Amino acid sequence: MIDAVCTYGGERHIFSILKFQTLSESEIEQFRPFLMCPVCKGKAYYRKKSSDGKAACFGSRYHIAGCDEGSLSTQREREVSHSREVNQIIASADVISIDFLLSKSIKQTKDRPSRDKQITAVALNPKAYSNLKPENINQLDAKAKPASNIKTLGLDKILNSLMRGSDLAQSTTLIELDVGYTFKAKNLFVNFADAEPCDSVKQAKPKMYWGTISHLDKELDWLNPSDCNDVGILLSKYKSAILSHFNISEPRQLEGAGIIVFGKCFWNAKKTRKIIELWNAERIFISVLEE
Ligand SMILES: [Zn+2]
Repeated sequence: MIDAVCTYGGERHIFSILKFQTLSESEIEQFRPFLMCPVCKGKAYYRKKSSDGKAACFGSRYHIAGCDEGSLSTQREREVSHSREVNQIIASADVISIDFLLSKSIKQTKDRPSRDKQITAVALNPKAYSNLKPENINQLDAKAKPASNIKTLGLDKILNSLMRGSDLAQSTTLIELDVGYTFKAKNLFVNFADAEPCDSVKQAKPKMYWGTISHLDKELDWLNPSDCNDVGILLSKYKSAILSHFNISEPRQLEGAGIIVFGKCFWNAKKTRKIIELWNAERIFISVLEE
């Protein structure tokens, strides 16, 4: 994208990337959450120049199919194929079980046991798993979900399919987070723009919030979604674990990244901003832009 539309202050203004990068830092911070694709109006991001010399650029993770600005990349093709795959799974499965380890590093997937249900048990509670023999896990499953057709998905496919507009966001298919704990997909997956905060973190029920990242603060304590301007994802507590897990060494790598987190949404003290607090450092997936 050479140009982006900025809707800051309710006005429509077209910026070229050359112009935008010469703005003052405070103007850039002000305008960047209000960028969109000039063709399809998909929410867009601005990426700063990288420390190793990659040029500043505009982009969007939300170009609609056929938008001229949305050049076909391996990453986008993969997202589209994940969206199709998830749609097929929704059509056939009674329950979709989320495997929080499936989307993690290759090193882990190599070592993990082959049975999906064992992995879920490990993800839930490593201690519990060490006490359970495989036959016990089977009993547990049989008790919780008799005769269900269960499919397992990793967070990467779930996020990609949500970003590419799969049926998942509206689906009544049951999603299993922990053994025996299921939620209808449409009640569980919430785009940042639709987040409904509780008054306090104690009242809030955890959900899977998703969208894309516009920018971060200097300390990398807060992630600000592109999807809306009143939500902040509080990263600080798990910052080092998450950043090292996803190999993120500079904030620019997160500009324009897709993200899905399990967390609670609540108001800040002044009720001016919605805070999303993470459940832990594991129930998160970040789809960094592949350049
Ligand atoms: Zn577009």
